[in-house]
Amino acid sequence: MNSVSRALWRFLLFAGIIAGGAWLFGGQSAFLIALCVCFSLQLMSHFYQLRRLHDYLTVESALDDENLWAGLFARLHERDKQNLKQKQQLKQNLARFQRAAEIMPEGIMVLSHQGRIEWFNQRALQHLNLREEDKNHLLINVVRIPALHQFLQQRTQKEIKFSLQDNPNGLIHHLHISRYPFEKTSEILHITDISLSEEIQLNRNRFISNASHELRTPLTVLKGFLEHLLDDQLDSQQRQMFLQLMQQQAQRMENVVNDLMTLSRLTQQHHQEKQHTPLNLSALVERVFQDSQGLSQNRHQMSASIAPNIQISGNEHDLYSALSNLAFNAVHYTPEGGEISIVLQQDNGQISFKVKDTGIGIAPEHLPRLTERFYQVQKNGANKTGTGLGLAICKYVLMEHHATLHIDSELGKGSVFAVKWKKN
Ligand code: ADP
Repeated sequence: MNSVSRALWRFLLFAGIIAGGAWLFGGQSAFLIALCVCFSLQLMSHFYQLRRLHDYLTVESALDDENLWAGLFARLHERDKQNLKQKQQLKQNLARFQRAAEIMPEGIMVLSHQGRIEWFNQRALQHLNLREEDKNHLLINVVRIPALHQFLQQRTQKEIKFSLQDNPNGLIHHLHISRYPFEKTSEILHITDISLSEEIQLNRNRFISNASHELRTPLTVLKGFLEHLLDDQLDSQQRQMFLQLMQQQAQRMENVVNDLMTLSRLTQQHHQEKQHTPLNLSALVERVFQDSQGLSQNRHQMSASIAPNIQISGNEHDLYSALSNLAFNAVHYTPEGGEISIVLQQDNGQISFKVKDTGIGIAPEHLPRLTERFYQVQKNGANKTGTGLGLAICKYVLMEHHATLHIDSELGKGSVFAVKWKKN
């Protein structure tokens, strides 16, 4: 029985009791009067409620329909339509908010006050290796990291850093989580993958320690020689030998400092506007060849094949230092009598520069690491004043010039260092 039927039966019962009572005390006419009064009261009550409904539905504009009921139904229908529209609008807004949350590079997670996962975006799911089914579970049960466990329990701790192993590929991720109170008892976790910045920090520390080491080694050697020189018992020949060795170490220190400054300039320049101008690459390579011959001083058989008039856009000073480093290395690492050839060519719009030597060559395990800063196959090898920064500088310069370095080498046989420019 619905509420309308219930109200009807209640009224009929009420009217029946009143009219029945009136019959008992006043006879038939009293019965009719009581019945009329009951119906009139009921009618008035309905009119009163109808008036309230009318006022409620016509807050903004009055009904002008001739038929009151038709007007009220029309207004109700209109309200329904409006509600539906608002519901759709809300749905669209929610979907839009979710799309915005999904493109954020950081993970966002809403936790209930017991630490249950109420909502997360895809990035949080990836960062913490979660699955969609983990929703509504306790976070400490799905990510079993003691440090995170402690963080979630101690609400006073505002942030935490920890490492997590990626499930599919086993890589270690470094994560940072900060918490923010949300609504009355919940909280929002903001999850950032800081692996890259941690790696940069690690590289920076490694670089500083390598640089200090590279400068300290020749400095220690210099100090040792100085102590010997203070010894009066040295004859002039020994003194001369020590001075020459000291000069070599001082030269090495100067080279390290110069290369460090070049690297620092290049890495800063990376973010600045590049200052490239049109230049004649053929003339530049010719200069590299002549300077290499000067360095070799006829100890090697040197040849060059340089295609004329190749024009590119670039920084002449940086390109010279990159290409000459490759050619000078060939001179340094090729024993006397060896062959060195330099080639510059343009084939189907592809410009390439190649330095080929028959020198000491490089074992395959070293090849991938050659362009790392300070990497040298043998410390104090054939190039006594080498810094291990030359190829790192070369890589930076080539990157700025949209060119790549390819190294091919065989131990004891020789090497080929090739530079290829991207086709225009
Ligand atoms: P370095 O100042 O020591 O020459 P580079 O960065 O220019 O530094 O080179 C890194 C290392 O690569 C060198 O120490 C050397 O071991 C190796 N190398 C570079 N060029 C050659 C080459 N042509 N033949 C053999 N080894 C080379």
